[in-house]
Amino acid sequence: MAKKRQFKTESKQLLNLMIHSIYTNKEIFLRELISNASDASDKAYFKAMEEKDGTYSRSEAVIRISADKETRVLTIADHGIGMSESELETNLGTIAKSGSKAFKDAVDDEEIDIIGQFGVGFYSAFMVSDKIEVISRAYGSDEAFAFKSNGVDGYTLESAERAEFGTTINCYLREDSDDADFSGFLESYKIKELVKTYSDYIRYPIVMSNSEGQDEVLNSMVPLWKRSKSEVTAEELNQFYKDKFHDSEDPARVIRLEVEGTTSFQALLFIPSHVPFNFYTQQYEAGLQLYSRNVFIMEHNKSLITDSFRFVQGIVDSPDLNLNISREILQEDRQLQAIASRIEKKIKSELEVMLKNERDSYEKFWANFGLQIKFGLYSSYGMQKELLQDLLMFNSSYQDKLVTLAEYAERMEDGQDVIYFASADTLEKAKSLPQSERVIAKGYEVLYLSDDVDEFVLQILMNYKDKAFKSVNQGDLNLESDEEKQELEEKTTQSKDMLASIKEKLTGKVDDVQLSSRLVSYPVCLTSKEGVSIEMEKVLNQMPDSQNQFKASKVLEINPNHPLYLALNRVVEDHPERMDDYAQLLYDQACLIEGLPIENPIEFSKRLSEVMVEASQN
Ligand code: ADP
Repeated sequence: MAKKRQFKTESKQLLNLMIHSIYTNKEIFLRELISNASDASDKAYFKAMEEKDGTYSRSEAVIRISADKETRVLTIADHGIGMSESELETNLGTIAKSGSKAFKDAVDDEEIDIIGQFGVGFYSAFMVSDKIEVISRAYGSDEAFAFKSNGVDGYTLESAERAEFGTTINCYLREDSDDADFSGFLESYKIKELVKTYSDYIRYPIVMSNSEGQDEVLNSMVPLWKRSKSEVTAEELNQFYKDKFHDSEDPARVIRLEVEGTTSFQALLFIPSHVPFNFYTQQYEAGLQLYSRNVFIMEHNKSLITDSFRFVQGIVDSPDLNLNISREILQEDRQLQAIASRIEKKIKSELEVMLKNERDSYEKFWANFGLQIKFGLYSSYGMQKELLQDLLMFNSSYQDKLVTLAEYAERMEDGQDVIYFASADTLEKAKSLPQSERVIAKGYEVLYLSDDVDEFVLQILMNYKDKAFKSVNQGDLNLESDEEKQELEEKTTQSKDMLASIKEKLTGKVDDVQLSSRLVSYPVCLTSKEGVSIEMEKVLNQMPDSQNQFKASKVLEINPNHPLYLALNRVVEDHPERMDDYAQLLYDQACLIEGLPIENPIEFSKRLSEVMVEASQN
């Protein structure tokens, strides 16, 4: 006769809470029941080993799932340690009582990889079932018992039949409602999908009969990352990546990491060989998959990977995580931070090795994900300077190839105390900026920046190995010898009126007009004083809501060695009334060179035509 019992203590309320609020996702009940079956199999194996009775081997432990659509019963059966009558009572009759945790504590064996710890997982099955039957026969016993409960007001315990030791759990699925489809859990495709997602690496076969009545194993069992490196082929890793992360191409790099310590973990990481189509959209979800003791915990854990490396895909498995009761990880966990920091260092060192030994592969990688690294550097406000600065690459005047900052620093001339760069909106423009002329003529290398974020990155870095970054078109370049300086000063004094006149005509457009020490062959250019540069002004003002509030303090520079300089001096003397046209034309030219729009193209064209006509008349 079945004995009717009440759940212990506050269990009723707790149960209600459990069923309705602990889990965000109903489908995890299957993960919980399978994890329990796996734990039970581990325990049976452990017991058998201890007793050396030879009656049980790991190969016998199979977890069997079956579904009966007519009766709406989903069954999970194992050949594990089972439960005696009193164990059914303590383990299942008391919510938050974990027999598994007690077992683990008692055997105190590091090797044993028991999953259960909170004593609530079983009850998650009530989210989808209105009645559950547990028929269990304990290892070494010939009696079986049935525990039956509707999850509301208690349970019954009675004698039952079971051919072998182990546990069978029958879930009587709830009726479907408008917002919940429970029947889905009886569909084999759904069951397969859930096993694949949550329990793929449970180490015992999870078996289900297919439509022809043959047994089909649903899980892959051994996680690739747990197999020794020598055992796993590159082919297997590539295939694993493609299946798991839905990519049609092999990864560019596979990175494995195994750490033992207070927080032990294994990581299997992949750098894709191309940019995912949605990488720069909101749809792309960064983060690593998280497993604990072979059981899937979450899909995209963002805390595990720094934004700079958000293109990295992969898996982290740690037995030491502080999981919360629903096994949904606690977000701001120190352990996660510790893992993330190890992963970050590992990726960096792998990339550095690639840069050193496989330049072509690295350049390909850089073409794919360099921009993300630069964004990461910028958005971390320089906190990742140490981590990222040696991964950066830029075009340069040294050769028609990408260079690193270390390579630039290596080549620096004696006495060169800054790293020069020229920035424009395309590489071609950056290469041909007149402002670089003198710097290059002096034998200095110039980095060419053409991504919007580039100048901001250098600004955040501030310096590299104590060498500051210096824009060729900003501030004073200090390139001249004392004599050259003196000569420039003299010419400036001589041209005082001309310069003052141009400055006056360009009021509101430039803050200064001066003779240039950086131009060699071009007549004019625009530069800016220190602070917001002209390139930055462009980028910042493109951003939504910028309202054009960013302004570089612009300087119009005139080349004193260009014939135009003499012409201007003549005009200011002989035809001061033409000075306005000349000043505007100079300014518009400088804007064009700089890639800035000219304010009034019609006026520009009119003035230019007039000057051309005049020139033809002389
Ligand atoms: P947890 O697995 O976190 O301990 P559960 O609520 O899922 O919590 O299970 C409570 C306890 O019931 C387990 O610790 C275990 O002792 C026992 N148990 C559950 N399922 C089984 C099973 N299939 N075989 C043997 N014992 C089980």
